[in-house]
This record gives sequence, structure tokens and C-alpha cells, in this order.
Amino acid sequence: MSSVERTIIIGSGPAGWSAAIYSARANLQPLVFEGAITEENRLQGTLPLGQLSLTTEVENFAGFPSGNLKEFLTSAIHPDRLLAMPPIEEHPHAVTGPELMELMRQQATNFGARIVTDDVVEVDFSKRPFTLKTRESGTFQAETVIVATGARANYLGLPSEETFRNRGVSACAVCDGALPRFRNKPLVVVGGGDSAVEEATYLSKYASKVYMVVRRDVLRASKIMQERATSNPKIEILWHSQVQEVLGDDKSGVTGIRILNSQSNSTTDYASSGLFLAIGHTPNTHFLKGQLELNEKGYIKWQKPFRTYTSVEGVFSAGDVSDDYYRQAITSAGTGCMAALDAERFLAEHGII
Ligand SMILES: Cc1cc2nc3c(=O)[nH]c(=O)nc-3n(C[C@H](O)[C@H](O)[C@H](O)COP(=O)(O)OP(=O)(O)OC[C@H]3O[C@@H](n4cnc5c(N)ncnc54)[C@H](O)[C@@H]3O)c2cc1C
Repeated sequence: MSSVERTIIIGSGPAGWSAAIYSARANLQPLVFEGAITEENRLQGTLPLGQLSLTTEVENFAGFPSGNLKEFLTSAIHPDRLLAMPPIEEHPHAVTGPELMELMRQQATNFGARIVTDDVVEVDFSKRPFTLKTRESGTFQAETVIVATGARANYLGLPSEETFRNRGVSACAVCDGALPRFRNKPLVVVGGGDSAVEEATYLSKYASKVYMVVRRDVLRASKIMQERATSNPKIEILWHSQVQEVLGDDKSGVTGIRILNSQSNSTTDYASSGLFLAIGHTPNTHFLKGQLELNEKGYIKWQKPFRTYTSVEGVFSAGDVSDDYYRQAITSAGTGCMAALDAERFLAEHGII
């Protein structure tokens, strides 16, 4: 086992890198576990660099208007990393998810953050220093830990859904709904809870029509959200329905959705340029096993408003792993900053720095 670290950060999305940048600049010499490159992580969408590495352009991260980014990106990111990235477009574009994440990673290493490409698989938070076991790199100890392991969107698991991911299939209406491919076109939202209604309502601002695909004959959403859906003239609810297949082609991406009505046992093809999943997210907290208080959905529970304190003193959490409400890159980056400042204060109060 190596010496005791001041701060270990688990996770490599906007929350993790933002925490790394702040804690590195505060001379906490953070050690970041960015996740392992394994088939299991690829399949569940938890490879290093987090959820944004799964998407194309990110139009709503402040500070990145669309422009000719090639020169900037090639000057800012280390050449070895550039080699492994998707090619950078020559034409003006909003920063892509992988580009934004590489920039954040680079910024963290520029200030001295050390990175291990591995998963943390087990933790012992019962006493300080805390102990963290990794998949392949051994066991580590730390005075403070920032958990920023994010969450993953749930998908239906259809092969055709996988084929058209990022080409019409999305799990984030706020992120993708305003993209040109979805404007003034019919769209399909799957799910019957509050977030499905929220996504459908949001999309109705851009789409010509929004179909909500609901399994049963009721919405799980709260009363007020149900009313919002049923009173919106652009939203049509397809009851007793489920998506059977995503239709499309290489050139256009998604062009339609095949829906099965479970009562009549018949299928109908709906023209649509997008399928939006709103069937929940799974927080990446499995490795915490009883070590931190989680809420009923498995998210890490913050113990105090506007603080990133978890149920264990010295362990902080940031980003989507503690937030099933906002779920944005910018909010994750913001709470990553908060967690680093909280960790720094904790170390100072305990005379460690
Ligand atoms: C397709 C898609 C498009 C999106 N588009 C936008 C957008 O345009 N704008 C926007 O603001 N938001 C967007 N979002 C949401 C945004 O990506 C998330 O809110 C944000 O990435 C959350 O950041 P995070 O740091 O909390 O964690 P994540 O991005 O979820 O990253 C956490 C990462 O930590 C690593 N990790 C997990 N467990 C472990 C472990 N045990 N050990 C080590 N490492 C681990 C994994 O690599 C994991 O992916 C999009 C999401 C998706 C899925």
C-alpha cells in the first residue's frame, strides 16, 4: 500500500475533473481514478471521461460558443491524447463531449493531478484514513475522498436503439432537443413518470408533435405533471404501448418508431426523427455497499443543503451521483468545485494541510 493521499477523487466526468482542478490548485495533490477501460464499462456507458464522452456536440456548456475549435484543441490537448480522440472537425462547431472532457482532463493534469485508469471496486469508510481497493492497481488510502462516479441513463436494450444512438436516439431532451435534426419534426418519448412528462413538454417547444409511449393506461407522473401532459396540444399519449423497434437508415439516422400496442397486439410505425428515453438513470454507487447513506433511488445523499457532505465526515460527493434532478455537465462541474473546497476545508480543520 502506498502512502496516505490527501484527496482521492473517484470518477472522470465534469464533477471529477472540476474537483481535480480545484484540489490540485489548492496543493492537495489529488489522485484521480478515472475508471477502467473494460468491455463491461463500455457496454454500460461508464468508460473514462463519463457520459459526455458518449455524445456529439455540447451546445450548453458556458464558454464554448460554436467556432473553429481545431487550432485551440490541438494546442491545448496533449498530442498522445489527440491521437486517441475522434478526429476534430475543421468546420466551426460547438465543442463535442469527448473534446470538452479531454480539455478538462488536460486542465487537471496541467495543475498536477495524477490519474489512474482504473475502477475503485470497494471502499472502507469506517475509519480514517479511508481505504480504497481498485480493480487492478492495488489498495490506496486517503484522508478525504470525493465520489464523482456519475450515473448512467437506462436504455431499452434494443439492438436498433444502439445502432441509432446519437443519431436520433437520446437520453437527454434538455441536452439534445434543440438540435436541428429534431426541430419541427415528430418525436417519441418513452416513459410515464415525471421526467418523461418534463422531457415531452420540453421537446414540444421544438417538435411538431410529441408522442409519449406509456406501458399502462395511467401515467406514473404526479397529478400536476399529468395535467401538463394531457393539456399540451402537441403531446399525444400512446397508452398500452411499447417501442418494438427504432427505424432509420445510415443517411438520416432515426426516421420512425415501431410501436406495439399490447391490448390490440398490433404494431404501428410512427414517423419520428428522434427517440428520447426517459425511463430513469442508474447511479454508479454499487461499489459503495453500505458505506454511505444513499437515497431510495441509490443516489448518494447530501447531509446538508449547499454542502457536498455525505454521511461520512471527510467523504464528499459531486455531480450526477448525488443529483437525479438537474443532471447537467455544468451543474456537475459546479458541485465538483464545491466538493474540492469542502475537502480542502476539512483537511485544514483537521490540521492535515
Ligand atoms: C448522451 C448524453 C448527452 C448529454 N448531453 C449533455 C449536454 O449536451 N449538456 C449537458 O450539460 N449535459 C449533457 N448530458 C448530461 C451530462 O453528461 C451529465 O450530467 C454529466 O456528465 C455528469 O457528470 P458527472 O461528473 O457527475 O459524471 P459522469 O459524466 O457520469 O462520469 C462519471 C464517470 O466516472 C467513472 N466511474 C464510475 N464509477 C467508477 C468507479 N467505481 N471507479 C472509477 N471511476 C468510475 C466512469 O468513467 C463514469 O462514466 C448528457 C448525457 C448523455 C448520456
